[in-house]
Amino acid sequence: MRMRKKKNTGARIQACSDYMNWNDMLENDKINKFDKIDKIDKFVCLEIGCGKGDFICGMARKFPGVNFIALEIISDVIVSAMEKAKNLDLPNVRFINGDAIKLEEYFADFKISQIYLNFSDPWHKRYQANKRLTSPVFLEIYKKILKPDSKIIMKTDKKEFFDYSVKSFLSNGFIIDRMTHDFYNSDFFDPEENIQTEYEKNFVSQNFPICYLEAILPSI
Ligand code: SAH
Repeated sequence: MRMRKKKNTGARIQACSDYMNWNDMLENDKINKFDKIDKIDKFVCLEIGCGKGDFICGMARKFPGVNFIALEIISDVIVSAMEKAKNLDLPNVRFINGDAIKLEEYFADFKISQIYLNFSDPWHKRYQANKRLTSPVFLEIYKKILKPDSKIIMKTDKKEFFDYSVKSFLSNGFIIDRMTHDFYNSDFFDPEENIQTEYEKNFVSQNFPICYLEAILPSI
């Protein structure tokens, strides 16, 4: 579906510009400051393709001691996420309006502790496979920005894309710690802990099963 370009996105993003610089968030991080841990050791979680931000804002609210960064390529979409964070006055979330292909550039001076891939575009056609956020191209980039022993947590309703992702993780040096094709009916599901994304709310309301995995990047 082609979205009509919204006229005032630039001005709306500008009004939330405090949410685009994460240096102050990391400087003000009381937990890490108390422990005298430097920038490289901060616990920072990254969501890639955050959409309108229900997940990242929900997580930032639930875990006030953790820093969250959300990446989204479409300005007309990320602006809603930024406004959500601003309205909730969340101090521990920041946004990047950019492309995951540039992650090494964004995170040149510190490492990420956890990555969330929520309902990423499946790019069904084989010739588009490199665009999938779990293709070897992206997994190699994640390896460069992740700390050792860190996790990538993935949720999707697209079983074929999920099965492709499992194979991709395994053949690119990750370990699959947990996985299920029916998250809501699995032992890993805890309704108190799970924060739903916009897509997830929609699929769950239609009773579509949700696939879930946790992949670990081992430290060797
Ligand atoms: N996570 C949200 C949105 C899922 S749709 C939810 O679960 O509700 C997937 C999102 O990923 C879209 O908003 C799309 O613009 C974004 N996206 C796709 N490829 C991207 C890339 N290379 N870099 C950053 N964002 C990307």
